[in-house]
Amino acid sequence: MTRRWKIILIIFAVLLAGWFFCLPKDLFKGTSYATVVTDRSGQLLGARIADDQQWRFPPADSVPYRCASAIIEFEDRHFRHHPGVNPVSLVRALVSNVKAGHIVSGGSTITMQVIRLSRGRERTLWQKMVEAVKATRLELRCSKDEILALYAAHAPFGGNVVGLEAAAWRYFGRPADQLSWAESATLAVLPNAPSSIHPGKGRDRLLQKRDRLLRRLCEEGYFDSATLEDALAEPLPDAPYPLPNIARHLVDGQPRGERTVTTIDLPLQRQVEALTDRWSDELDHSGAADLAAVVIDIRSGEVLAYVGNSSATRLRAGSEVDIARSPRSTGSILKPFLYCAALQDGVILPRTLLPDTPVNLGGFTPENFDLQFHGAVPAAEALARSLNVPAVQLLRSYGAPRFLQLLRDAGMSSFANDASYYGLSLILGGGEGTLRDITAAYAGMVRSFRGLDDGSPFKDKIALWYTFEALKEVNRPDEIDWKLIRSVRKAAWKTGTSYGYRDAWAVGVTPDYAVGVWCGNADGHGVAGMTGAKTAGPVMFDILNLLPASAEWFEEPLEGGVYLDVCKASGMLKSLDCPQWETVMLPAKASESAVCPYHQGGVFRLPPGMEWYYKAYHPEYKVVPAKGTAQMEFLYPESGTILTLPRQLDGSTPGAVFHVVHRDPQAVLYWHLDQSYLGETRIIHKMNLAPEEGRHTVTVVDGRGNSVSVNFSVR
Ligand SMILES: [Zn+2]
Repeated sequence: MTRRWKIILIIFAVLLAGWFFCLPKDLFKGTSYATVVTDRSGQLLGARIADDQQWRFPPADSVPYRCASAIIEFEDRHFRHHPGVNPVSLVRALVSNVKAGHIVSGGSTITMQVIRLSRGRERTLWQKMVEAVKATRLELRCSKDEILALYAAHAPFGGNVVGLEAAAWRYFGRPADQLSWAESATLAVLPNAPSSIHPGKGRDRLLQKRDRLLRRLCEEGYFDSATLEDALAEPLPDAPYPLPNIARHLVDGQPRGERTVTTIDLPLQRQVEALTDRWSDELDHSGAADLAAVVIDIRSGEVLAYVGNSSATRLRAGSEVDIARSPRSTGSILKPFLYCAALQDGVILPRTLLPDTPVNLGGFTPENFDLQFHGAVPAAEALARSLNVPAVQLLRSYGAPRFLQLLRDAGMSSFANDASYYGLSLILGGGEGTLRDITAAYAGMVRSFRGLDDGSPFKDKIALWYTFEALKEVNRPDEIDWKLIRSVRKAAWKTGTSYGYRDAWAVGVTPDYAVGVWCGNADGHGVAGMTGAKTAGPVMFDILNLLPASAEWFEEPLEGGVYLDVCKASGMLKSLDCPQWETVMLPAKASESAVCPYHQGGVFRLPPGMEWYYKAYHPEYKVVPAKGTAQMEFLYPESGTILTLPRQLDGSTPGAVFHVVHRDPQAVLYWHLDQSYLGETRIIHKMNLAPEEGRHTVTVVDGRGNSVSVNFSVR
């Protein structure tokens, strides 16, 4: 090989390498895009303007057929066949420019225009040559459809509208793939003279250009002459449309400058928004300004509808807060999780009697919503009636740290503190959860039941089935105002109301959907009388009614558990003394559960504290005095309690109220602190005591010589 040839080869190689590396890896690097959020099928929910205040949507994968045809026909007829440059049209453009003395024709291909849009340089001959070279390189990298999509995404469409997709929404209020031929043609000619979209003289020219393009498209056989006549009769667009603004809080929460496909189902989302807007107006009158709702599909576990705050259309402080993601006091809404967990771990059986008597747990004195005590209540009923005291007693048996871990395993990330921070109030709203997480955890229970979710901490199908059964009873006293609801869909559901009526919750599940609703005020102020049942409940049932009805209810599992004899009175495992029992299917761990302690010699006898309250609600309960059983019991304090008695400024202390119950309502009780006599009580056996610091014993004696003592210390 001659030296000359070598040099030529080297030069050729250098040029080739230069050509090969002439394009930056990311052509539009540094370009800021609008935030675009779509539903599950790609329908636009909403968008947020790009950082540079341009409506520039992130590039789509393809350009719809009519728009693509119109753009190619108008800009670059041979686009599909040239290698990035079209020498014929370049020469033609050069000739006509030289003739005219200035630039009248670009002669640029769509590929070259993509390069220009990415570089934003001046339109000189040199730049055009650079564009031509780079265009050939771009053709090697991208398919024709990809190049066309890049052009469509970055071309100017007037004002701050960039890209075909944004233009379709702004000028026609529809996605680009739903545009007519006339509309597609309008958008195809716009980048050539973007300002002509605005009212004024430019519009006549725009119309002429559009019509010329339409005629050409007709000549090329894209559509027939009848279609052409219709297309020519279409007017140009008027004032820009506002972009859709659906699921606005969800849209706000998506990554900036990206296109995000969510799991939202647009038709359902629209229905839920219309419904929550109506309810929000209604509830606003009663002082609850904010309303949030979440619908989850059980099969996929995905969120189908999401209303972060339905009042966002009304401009006021707090309406922009996405309540569905804000941690709020949970009220009673976590109780089903505890019931299910306690069942699955054999801590209780479905109808185990739980104590419902006054308790004082280190200063925490839970009360029921109706301020009554019922003595003892079957666990399932306590759940359905949402009684607080039995729930606290159950959490005490189950263990607060264990329950907290369960909540976290169920996906509730907002419980960040350790168990001692929440204490037993955790089950009464002492912690904060988000509507999104809580609804997902309810959905997780159903998913686990249906064998769809391996990660759920609720694994025992039988425990889950009993939980759904307990929650399906809809005719609960003092709960929902049923007049407000048109028709009631069968659901397993629970409501919750936080301390001070600040948060009203309702979550319901069917085999196919989970629906969660929260209402209250974003700023946290309470609304007297606002309960989950009366406000959130009806909204939840209304949303359930929008959803397709489930064909079947939760089917009772027939395997995976154990058959055991259960005492009918106590709901606990049958002892030899229990006179009536039934054999029922129970979770596998139920065999580790406690045996009924209340039947002795066939007689059902509760401890005095439980009996005292229980008998008032159960006329059939017979108080049978019997030797050898406790006649009375301290309700407060428990033995071993450490009392901290606050001191007033003058050094005195208000003391603490000691409380004893006796089986015999006629009994007179005589009280002693350590060795000294204090006094007697009748009917209500309460005594206010303020002992000195140190260890003490209080002893109470009845007229028959029965006595009961409690040891405690004062700090
Ligand atoms: Zn029994």
